[in-house]
Amino acid sequence: MNIGVLCIQGAFAEHITIFKTLGINCTELRKKSDITDLDGLVLPGGESTVQGKLLQELDMLEPLKEKIINGLPVFATCAGLILLSEELTNDKNVYFGTLPICTRRNAYGRQIDSFCKTTDFKGIGSFSATFIRAPYIEKTGNGVEILAKTDGKITAVKYRNQLGLAFHPELGNDFRIHKYFIDIINENTRNNIHY
Ligand code: GLN
Repeated sequence: MNIGVLCIQGAFAEHITIFKTLGINCTELRKKSDITDLDGLVLPGGESTVQGKLLQELDMLEPLKEKIINGLPVFATCAGLILLSEELTNDKNVYFGTLPICTRRNAYGRQIDSFCKTTDFKGIGSFSATFIRAPYIEKTGNGVEILAKTDGKITAVKYRNQLGLAFHPELGNDFRIHKYFIDIINENTRNNIHY
């Protein structure tokens, strides 16, 4: 199994460390030519405007978008979730736009308003979720499964091959959501789907 991790900005190193601990090979995606045969893709947290701009400048946005549309399993956290969102409540930019949700950026205030909150995650159970200048999801479209709510706000969803979280599951040492993503990839592999 080979998971491509977008390594242009933000908290990518933590994801790589976790997947390596779980025995999974990661490819660091830093430029267009790094995008080859992948079984999964990670879009890490960070700053979505910077990531979106770099994706365009590096000519990586379209090739990755095509793979996502074709069904490549993608695991997006925080800024990554913003990049996937079809619509943003408080920003006119759209990046991949492949996930039919409307997301509010910086929904909890500024960096100083970051927090940890125990959140019930469907199929996993209680998870200590870290929110850093996080978004939340205000609306979901057809076919979007809600996996978690935090204080009544939607903070994790799944839509076909796309898993999106408002928080940072890579901080701390609970790897259950990463294992959940590996299960999604294994399901695809069993069905002999490649991207
Ligand atoms: N506030 C950031 C943004 O809008 C996301 C923060 C994060 O990824 N922790 O891009």
